[in-house]
Amino acid sequence: MFSKVLIANRGEIAVRVIRACRELGISTVAVYSDLDRDALHVRLADEAYALGGQTAAESYIDADKILDVIQRSGAEAVHPGYGFFSENSDFARRITDLGVAFIGPGPDAIDVMGDKISARLAAEKVGVHGVPGSTEILTDAQKVVDFGNEFGFPVAIKAAYGGGGRGMKVVHSAEEAEAALESAQREALSYFGRDECYMERYLTKPRHVEVQLIADSQGNCVYLGTRDCSAQRRHQKLIEEAPAPGIPDEILDAMGEAAVKVAKGCDYVNAGTVEFLYQDGGFYYLEMNTRLQVEHPVTELITGVDLVELQLRVAAGEALPFTQEDVTITGHAIECRINAEDPFKFTPSPGRITSYHPPGGPGIRVDSHIYQGYFVPPHYDSLIGKVIAYGESREQAIRRMRIALSEMAVQGIQTNIPLHQDLLLDERFVKGGTSIHYLEQKLAQQKLEKG
Ligand code: ADP
Repeated sequence: MFSKVLIANRGEIAVRVIRACRELGISTVAVYSDLDRDALHVRLADEAYALGGQTAAESYIDADKILDVIQRSGAEAVHPGYGFFSENSDFARRITDLGVAFIGPGPDAIDVMGDKISARLAAEKVGVHGVPGSTEILTDAQKVVDFGNEFGFPVAIKAAYGGGGRGMKVVHSAEEAEAALESAQREALSYFGRDECYMERYLTKPRHVEVQLIADSQGNCVYLGTRDCSAQRRHQKLIEEAPAPGIPDEILDAMGEAAVKVAKGCDYVNAGTVEFLYQDGGFYYLEMNTRLQVEHPVTELITGVDLVELQLRVAAGEALPFTQEDVTITGHAIECRINAEDPFKFTPSPGRITSYHPPGGPGIRVDSHIYQGYFVPPHYDSLIGKVIAYGESREQAIRRMRIALSEMAVQGIQTNIPLHQDLLLDERFVKGGTSIHYLEQKLAQQKLEKG
């Protein structure tokens, strides 16, 4: 096992990784921007190094600065958290060339999954299919029209190097095809620097169901159940739960097995997530995220594993300590992402937290980096923590989450807690199985009613 690990991240995930390291007796190295001088991860780590700068580009994703700290601290491995360098194969190559371990998959696996066309081809090669479509690079809008006429509209035009819904355009009729292709290409070029697009059917009421897996360097790969992350706004996940409710076990198992096939197909090592769209009893491969995800705690609560500990172990060359047969799913877990933002206008709400009371009680876990007096900087994402509730049943998990959010008090800034409270009382949400469009539709409806 490593004796010293550098955490190339900030916020709640840096704190989460430090905790796992401490449990394993690994000494920790934090890095921080000028704005994060008083951050919790800096206080909790054994050593902390200033990167200077304010924005992520000037600090956390300046590879030269991180490499310099690796050298000065003598860290043997880097945990990238999520975001930042977590899916950056150039960074992974640079540090592995120095003999420093990247706590993530090999750079080649990152590259295969880094572009949606190659990720789709990699899945197809092992017999796992995406939404019906074509992996050809689109140059002619007529192809979209032909596809729509043959298989039906709507059709999604998607940027190969896109993400977060950017570079994705939905075509509802033949007349829209040309403008949509141009617009997808333009958006892709401006956000991602590349304009290659492809197309697939646009599903109108899918659920986002994903499979967590973990793979070691000895060729063992195990899936750890599913998560449903359909409660999204503008493709940003808001509430996640595990396991995905109301889907027959045979289908959940088939998804798990498909996910393992995809991972094995690219010699994957590390924790990873294979995302699917699920609609009308069918599931379609969407992509693979080659990193730890924000929502990993819900999986930890229903399986009893510590995913960060496993990441550290497999990166250090250890074999997985269990097999697929050992994995059992018990109970239900739900996570609410707490953001510093106006709960209904969704505008960021940075500032000083004047008072903070975290929730507690049976089945409640809080992963957060905030404290009373902490200043939420405007320069990074607005996530200030996650409340995770576990219950024997989904009903109990929801009940516990409602109680937890009613106890939680964050003053001095606005948070989206009221939005979560609203959704946790919504009849359709409580029933389970809503599509990825449900939350947006509900918000649009509320706006209409309010005038
Ligand atoms: P990511 O941000 O995960 O890279 P994409 O940009 O591919 O995802 O897609 C963003 C979101 O758009 C997905 O999470 C999913 O909710 C939705 N989506 C993607 N492809 C389709 C499709 N073919 N049909 C319906 N919804 C889709």
